[in-house]
Amino acid sequence: MTAQKELLKKLEGILGRERLITEAEDRWCYAFDAAAAQAKHLPLAVALPRSTEEVVAIMRLATEYRVPVYPRGAGTNLSGGVIPREDGLVVSFTEMNKILELDIENLTATVQPGVVVQDLNDAVAPHGLIYPPDPGSVTTATMGGSVAESSGGLRGLKYGVTKDYVMGLEVVLADGTVFHCGGKTVKNVSGYDLVKLFCGSEGTLGIMTAITVRLIPAPEARRSMLAVFDRMEGAARTITEIIANKVIPATMEIMDNVTIRTVEAYCHAGLPVEAAAVLLLEVDGIPEVVAKEAAIVERVCRENGGQVQVARDDAERENLWTARRAALPACARLRPTTVLEDATVPRSQIPAMLLALEKIAQKYNLTIATYGHAGDGNLHPTITCDERDGEEMQRVHSAVDEIFRTAVELGGTLSGEHGIGIAKQKYMELEFGANGLDVMRRIKQALDPLGLLNPGKLVGPVPAKE
Ligand SMILES: Cc1cc2nc3c(=O)[nH]c(=O)nc-3n(C[C@H](O)[C@H](O)[C@H](O)COP(=O)(O)OP(=O)(O)OC[C@H]3O[C@@H](n4cnc5c(N)ncnc54)[C@H](O)[C@@H]3O)c2cc1C
Repeated sequence: MTAQKELLKKLEGILGRERLITEAEDRWCYAFDAAAAQAKHLPLAVALPRSTEEVVAIMRLATEYRVPVYPRGAGTNLSGGVIPREDGLVVSFTEMNKILELDIENLTATVQPGVVVQDLNDAVAPHGLIYPPDPGSVTTATMGGSVAESSGGLRGLKYGVTKDYVMGLEVVLADGTVFHCGGKTVKNVSGYDLVKLFCGSEGTLGIMTAITVRLIPAPEARRSMLAVFDRMEGAARTITEIIANKVIPATMEIMDNVTIRTVEAYCHAGLPVEAAAVLLLEVDGIPEVVAKEAAIVERVCRENGGQVQVARDDAERENLWTARRAALPACARLRPTTVLEDATVPRSQIPAMLLALEKIAQKYNLTIATYGHAGDGNLHPTITCDERDGEEMQRVHSAVDEIFRTAVELGGTLSGEHGIGIAKQKYMELEFGANGLDVMRRIKQALDPLGLLNPGKLVGPVPAKE
């Protein structure tokens, strides 16, 4: 029997026939994620564990047979983070989807990695609580994938991203070692901050099998507004001036004209198709504060040439957020391929970045729809193209290179929330320098000396230490 057949037989012994996927047509479904224009590779098999013990057994076998492992949540990441690059096992967490504990006294929840983010929010809502990180993919993305990407979302400006809410983890290392870090204490400064190390580690350091997160009281009141601008500069100035007026909205999203028209054609939300840009804003908190902050926001918008419409009820509010969440699916209908980027700059550099994006679109003769979490400097320039057209893809790659060079030159980062994966791996040295990247590779080598966990992603190829 070949080593590969032997490995599959042993895996079947652990998981049973029904939780080990081996048919080629089924395995192809796990060769993809939501990232465009990335090379695909068929995994050897897909394992669907239900417990930490099963994950440990899988990792021991992977170590024994020197087989790469690709952890996978819902596969919604936009950086090629779960795409196998060589023969290996995909470990999917969709079967580890239990909420293990809601601790209302300590305001924490402990979940298995396959819990869908929205399901956690639905479970805590009756207690008057929320779990704030809300990626646009909230109804599909899993907690494991979300922690591994440290995902953010529409509420990131005021509430931060996933790593701000993770308090404790159970982790299985590449050799099957299990360890716990963090916990439920509000204060915890013992030792190295391993919890933070694993947030955003993109499945390259260990597998998270249980996650404890902080919950917060749901805001008592909120007000949503749509501000319409006939000049992009007005919208860009408004973003920085609202913050300068000491108001931190829960949400401050921007959509440019290309996005507005595309979204309107897709979901008929009543967006103004002639506008150069719109801002979608929401303030929340106790009613008195909401009233005061909303008045400031409206004033600043008007001073910068914006016309403000306030959502009158929940239906109008939901309509606004549905329109914003439709940005990516709407753009995806324009052309066969959608390259969505995640350039993030300090807030004060948003006007410069928006201008640069316009110039880059012209220079490379591309359609770039720009929208994103403007309040936290996190823009999602989205290029619609066709990956079968080699010449066009050359221009796309050159434009993307220039987008990231510009973002880093403006004091920004390669990723505000989507992670690095394989798509942005080549730019890592640009942001961290050779020494910074070397430190990360040393951490990777220390925890995964054989280089079995999600190889090639985030830190790129790292030689195995036998
Ligand atoms: C329409 C759309 C909108 C989006 N909007 C946002 C947004 O607003 N903000 C945002 O931040 N992102 C957004 N994303 C990106 C993506 O949805 C998030 O990063 C999401 O949190 C990924 O979760 P997932 O379960 O799909 O993870 P996957 O894509 O399956 O995996 C992501 C990474 O996590 C690793 N991983 C998965 N499970 C584990 C585990 N248990 N242990 C260790 N590593 C693991 C994988 O190896 C991979 O590196 C969006 C994506 C789409 C398609």
